[in-house]
Amino acid sequence: MPLSLFNTLGREVQEFKSIKQGEVGFYACGPTVYNYAHIGNLRAYVTHDILARVLRRRGFALTHVMNITDVGHLTGDSDEGDDKMVKSAEERGKSVLEVAEFYTKAFFSDTERLNIARPDIVCKATEHISDMIALIKRLEEKGFTYQAGGNLYFDIAKFPNYAELARLKLDALQAGARIEVDGNKRNPEDFVLWFTKSKFANQALVWESPWGRGYPGWHIECAAMSIKYLGEQFDIHAGGIDHIQIHHSNEIAEAEAATGVHPWVRCWVHNEFLVLGAKGKMSKSAGGFITLQNLIDEGFDALDYRYFLLGGHYRTQLQFSLESLTGARNARKSLATLLRNLAAAAAAASGSASGTSSLASDKVRAVPSEGAGGAAAVHLAAFDAALDDDINVPRALASLWGVLKDAALPPADALATAFSMDEVLGLRLREEAAKAGSRNEDAALCAEVEALIAERAAAKKQKDFAKADSIRAALKERGILLEDTPRGTVWTAPRAAVPQ
Ligand code: AMP
Ligand code: ZN
Repeated sequence: MPLSLFNTLGREVQEFKSIKQGEVGFYACGPTVYNYAHIGNLRAYVTHDILARVLRRRGFALTHVMNITDVGHLTGDSDEGDDKMVKSAEERGKSVLEVAEFYTKAFFSDTERLNIARPDIVCKATEHISDMIALIKRLEEKGFTYQAGGNLYFDIAKFPNYAELARLKLDALQAGARIEVDGNKRNPEDFVLWFTKSKFANQALVWESPWGRGYPGWHIECAAMSIKYLGEQFDIHAGGIDHIQIHHSNEIAEAEAATGVHPWVRCWVHNEFLVLGAKGKMSKSAGGFITLQNLIDEGFDALDYRYFLLGGHYRTQLQFSLESLTGARNARKSLATLLRNLAAAAAAASGSASGTSSLASDKVRAVPSEGAGGAAAVHLAAFDAALDDDINVPRALASLWGVLKDAALPPADALATAFSMDEVLGLRLREEAAKAGSRNEDAALCAEVEALIAERAAAKKQKDFAKADSIRAALKERGILLEDTPRGTVWTAPRAAVPQ
């Protein structure tokens, strides 16, 4: 089954075909580093990470590029509002570059904790100003620009394809649906390529240009940097759905008008939002957002949040709540228990004296043995088919559970299959398995619960169901839940019951 992706350009799931055989160029819009990423933003980066991992698993030589926006992004995407970087620097009494450096580090610390692989190329806008100026010059030479009020604008009237990606009804918009604040624009959808004196006398970072001292608009950053690293046509461009109407429509206009290549990007992948109860979409500018550190301060592991995200398809809205995150944490605990059971069983089967931790190490082969064939291969095929079907991660996750609970699989093969799946899921299952085998902190609790589980199993064997039920009930009282699976009984405990 070929890999298929929902392409925003055609509004349908399409078979993915790379431009060059065996190679994929992938650009994802990166963070504007004026504040911490909120957990909604992090949903976008986990989506990109999973897509990149799927492409690599499919054997493509992937070049994943992500920008860092450290100049030119205003609070309104259509050139209205304040400059996000300048505003943040003023509020914090720091320079723009200090703010950018601090939040760039914070961003990568978050992505590392979420086990998001670092893109192959990370490019900062401020280090690519000459590429942006060169692209704007091409646009100017071809007659797509005009100057007004000191700024250089892109003239969308010269680019008939403007509405293609967002399927905008320009006439309706122009009839007054949008509040226009920049009187220099000929059309409301025109946008700034280069700002000079018209805005922000206090702009900290300015560069010389053919249009005066100033700084680039946000959209030209992504167009120039993606073309620089991936060429004038490339395979996939990603971002959140909020970028379809303005940012990505403007990037396309810039790139295609300058190069004449259509389509500039073959496949556009957009993730839906993470939403927060009645408050709706989380946003950095509106304040009151949740960061990954907030979740960690509440006692969660960053991977609990990754697991929570894997439970929703990237094109459906995901409601965030602490209850759902607690559910994800419990599920991860069950995963760890199953992995530990498997590791112990595999060690026993191989007569290993070194216990479970060596089985969880990278010495365990990454794919199941040929002989195990059948059952493991069926699980892996279902897993890959789910991912090929527009990256259906919830279904792929169900395959992982299927493997761990399939009593027909030899334990070592179940482990190897799970580790292979984890190359995409990124839940650090090897480490989980190793940790589970040598968890010192809650060793006493584990030993106690496992002794009770063994006692319950013995009671059930002797048909003393009253005793078995009373053991389960007593554990439940303490918040410890038992689940009987074909691989034995697994248990989960709330945080309070397990010393962290
Ligand atoms: P920004 O730093 O604001 O440019 O956003 C970074 C990425 O996060 C972009 O791809 C946005 O589309 C995406 N994004 C912003 N808010 C959310 C949200 N609540 N849920 C999911 N993705 C979001
Ligand atoms: Zn972008």
